[in-house]
Amino acid sequence: MKSHARVVVIGGGVVGVSTLYHLTKKGWSDVVLLERTELTAGSTWHAAGLLPLFNMSYTVGQIHKYSVDLYKRLPEETGQEVSFHVTGNLRLATNRDRMDEYLKYCGTANTIGVPFEVISPSQIKELWPLIDLGDGVNTDKVIGALYHPDDGHIAPVDLTMALRKGARMGGAEIYEQTEVTGVQQLPSGEWKITTNKGEITCEHVVCATGNYARQMGRMFGINVPAIPVEHQYIVYDESPELKAYREAGGNELAVLRESDAQYYLREERNGWILGPYEKGAPARFADGVPGWFGKSLFEGDLDRLLPHVEAAMKRVPALETCGIKTIVNGPISYTPDGNPLIGPAFGKRNLWLNEGHSFGVTAAGGSGWQLAEWIVEGEPGIDMLAVDPRRYGAYTSKRYTVAKNEETYRNVFTVHFPDEEREDGRPLKTSPVYDKLDRMGAVWGQRYGWERANWYAPEGVERHDKWSFRRTNYFEHVGNECRLMRDKVGIIDLTAFTKHEVCGAGAEAWLDSLVANKVPSKIGRIALCHALTKRGGIHAEFTITKIADNHYYVVSAGAAERIDSDFLQKNLPADGSVTLRNITGSRGCFVLAGPNSRDVLKKLTDSPLDNKSFPWLTSQVIEVGMATDVYALRVNFVGELGWELHFPIEYAHHIFDQLFAAGREFGIGMVGIRAMESLRVEKSYRMWGTDLTRDNTPFEASLDRFVRMDKGDFIGRAALEQQLAAGVPNRFVTLEVQGVVDADPLGNEPLFNAKGAVVGRATAGYYGHVTGKSIALAYVKPEYAEVGTQLEIQILGERKRAVVVPESPYDPENRKLRADAAA
Ligand SMILES: Cc1cc2nc3c(=O)[nH]c(=O)nc-3n(C[C@H](O)[C@H](O)[C@H](O)COP(=O)(O)OP(=O)(O)OC[C@H]3O[C@@H](n4cnc5c(N)ncnc54)[C@H](O)[C@@H]3O)c2cc1C
Repeated sequence: MKSHARVVVIGGGVVGVSTLYHLTKKGWSDVVLLERTELTAGSTWHAAGLLPLFNMSYTVGQIHKYSVDLYKRLPEETGQEVSFHVTGNLRLATNRDRMDEYLKYCGTANTIGVPFEVISPSQIKELWPLIDLGDGVNTDKVIGALYHPDDGHIAPVDLTMALRKGARMGGAEIYEQTEVTGVQQLPSGEWKITTNKGEITCEHVVCATGNYARQMGRMFGINVPAIPVEHQYIVYDESPELKAYREAGGNELAVLRESDAQYYLREERNGWILGPYEKGAPARFADGVPGWFGKSLFEGDLDRLLPHVEAAMKRVPALETCGIKTIVNGPISYTPDGNPLIGPAFGKRNLWLNEGHSFGVTAAGGSGWQLAEWIVEGEPGIDMLAVDPRRYGAYTSKRYTVAKNEETYRNVFTVHFPDEEREDGRPLKTSPVYDKLDRMGAVWGQRYGWERANWYAPEGVERHDKWSFRRTNYFEHVGNECRLMRDKVGIIDLTAFTKHEVCGAGAEAWLDSLVANKVPSKIGRIALCHALTKRGGIHAEFTITKIADNHYYVVSAGAAERIDSDFLQKNLPADGSVTLRNITGSRGCFVLAGPNSRDVLKKLTDSPLDNKSFPWLTSQVIEVGMATDVYALRVNFVGELGWELHFPIEYAHHIFDQLFAAGREFGIGMVGIRAMESLRVEKSYRMWGTDLTRDNTPFEASLDRFVRMDKGDFIGRAALEQQLAAGVPNRFVTLEVQGVVDADPLGNEPLFNAKGAVVGRATAGYYGHVTGKSIALAYVKPEYAEVGTQLEIQILGERKRAVVVPESPYDPENRKLRADAAA
């Protein structure tokens, strides 16, 4: 074995080998893969080989598309066959919600460029003659299907071997029977990897260890929230009906998915493979894979499979005459949200993960492609937030991960509503006033482990979401919360915000080198700042407040805690001139906003609150009631007069009670996250993570006013200069969507010009309850960014007129948030 390599990939499943292959494609040939036994011996050898293009996530959709395209060209490139059967993929719908899900997906597919068709029952029968479309009595009636003509299934071992060949052609070396037993980071920053065959040092390590992800993570001192779950499929004997159909010249049938009965079915040598996602499948190996497991399988559990077998027999009667050949029950890696972990490991330099794959054969190509890009170029080519390992925080304990992974597994085929909130593993992280909000009717949601009130059910209204792709049961109540905020005064509990404290003589210069805007140099000033990638894309959004000399308070999205912490930590200067503290847990935050907010706060503080004493975009450290050290920031995300109160967490109850007591005469009430979404969309405020990602620069996001090209260097500046010279390729616009009946834009909808070409993509949308308009926020080609431009937006399969309108449909001149105290 070599003693040194640029990159060592640990794990010889399809994902590890694909990563190796893609590193060589990026021109890095000094790369090595270590496999404890033999290639494919983990989960890869027994995978069913399905390659579904379907995925509701914009990121994962792109990853899957890349894989399918790559696998088609690999045989020619490497001379190794991969048995890719391009049969197409048919997903049945038996109810309107399911059809809505497919129609919502079509928007994503359109923006990614994945070919698909929505087809009728008669077209289904033509494509799949052995199907029973159902009578609506004994069997659910099929009302339509989503058809992907371009995907199908592949032989996972052959695929891995083709990638191996390609990697070797690019200079990579693969060592089998080589188990990693220890790791150490050297003072130089390099990694020393110990194996049963000796040691190897390297610049970068990639973990692609499948079911071993947790124990490998422990070796590196990190917690990896990937724990496998049992997954089974049944291999059937030959089917006489299928055989007769094929012998009569029938094409191989498309892979069939009856999502409403939670199974897939594909042909296998004139027989079938049937794979369900059953309830009750247990997580395995939470404490590590036992030494004896090796290339084994678990015992099949027919009881768990039976309901799905019965449903499939009704849909495809030919199954009734088939015997079962075998049941394959293997470990399939899962994460709490079902997406893989692709990207840098939190808190460690040059340690990369490509773990947690439950559709690893499908995702191997795309994940290797983007991870290699990230390692070699320092950043990925597409927005990877949905799969970034740092989307999880320290809260992913073993028990939490087990609970969520089992839940995610049994929900693989349930309808994925945009407002869905799953129950397991909750409540976990709560604001101190959680119980109070609960008593006030909070209908809870969860993000990054935090409980957040999505809306508040008034007395007599059921505290329950009826999830939907359309306006649903909470629509009216969210509207009332919006009006309360705009007309009177409301509170949003945003304790989940990520909060960092940056101190030291070098703090200002250091922060300035990280972000595109000018960091405030005057005490009490606030600036909205974006940290960019080298390519100029938006990596993070920080609200930076100067609290005192050499003391900054840096606030960002709750779900960005690890991503932002990691970014800040890894960029800290080595000279000790800056100290960084993550103080997320020690400060809470209530947003107090609305035209009466000043009157409420005035009763609780002696600090004057008029515009002269406390202007917009400034902050002061004030007392609220008897609480001290409250950072009052005169900013908010809803576009009203108001303050964000960031207080030492121990004062949460006191401040909350005081605000309510003082606010009673002004009609104070609680406002939830869904109302906040409507209010911010009405103000065209961009949200980090959806509207603002690494896919677009601040110029594309039309945030020019937050970029100070004249202030000196910062990360991404050179790329911005180049973009300005070449022309900004997209612009962020606000659109009014006309003719909406009950389905508003929510993000990921394509925008079409008059000729029917896709010219943009909505990243967010909502019904503006106060403006009374359905609003979309979108990136479009610059020639379509003029106010008044008429486009079409596709919402749940229907084209609606979308007109570009001026920014901020509500209070465009910002009069409300600048409102002064009455004389
Ligand atoms: C029954 C079943 C059916 C499936 N069907 C499909 C499907 O149809 N389509 C699909 O896309 N996916 C499917 N999957 C999922 C798919 O099998 C996995 O997502 C994929 O194989 C994961 O590949 P991997 O490379 O990440 O992991 P693995 O294939 O498990 O590879 C990890 C490798 O790391 C090695 N390793 C671990 N520790 C060390 C160490 N210390 N030193 C050196 N090497 C180490 C292991 O030996 C192993 O070879 C299925 C899974 C199951 C269980």
